[in-house]
Amino acid sequence: MKLRFNYSGKTIEVRGDIAICFINAGLATEVLARPEVQAPAKAEWITTRGRTRDGELFIGISCQRCHYSALIQKPTENAEIRHCGIVEKVPASVLAEYRRLKVAESDAADNANVQAASRADEVAGLVKYV
Ligand SMILES: [Zn+2]
Repeated sequence: MKLRFNYSGKTIEVRGDIAICFINAGLATEVLARPEVQAPAKAEWITTRGRTRDGELFIGISCQRCHYSALIQKPTENAEIRHCGIVEKVPASVLAEYRRLKVAESDAADNANVQAASRADEVAGLVKYV
């Protein structure tokens, strides 16, 4: 049993029958174990990229309580996971963020294609005059 001695404030592990003698004599009090604080049964959802082989954009999910971990590459509003005995749907804000980044990525790819095409035209134009 763990005791805290009144005169010193020190906590010491003491054999049960002896500990009761200290407590009954008013020299110490028992230190009760704190209940473990559990992480909430709520997964963390984030939009990110890079863990997949092709560096695709995805939604990553993890739960600190049950250590569930997953990723969804093409999420829909019906995307859901089961962990800690509950079912969680993809949060609307995370899905919106995924879609915003996906559109930005698509626009960037379009711009890159347009620039590449115009560079190809310039090169073709130069070749004509050579
Ligand atoms: Zn969980």
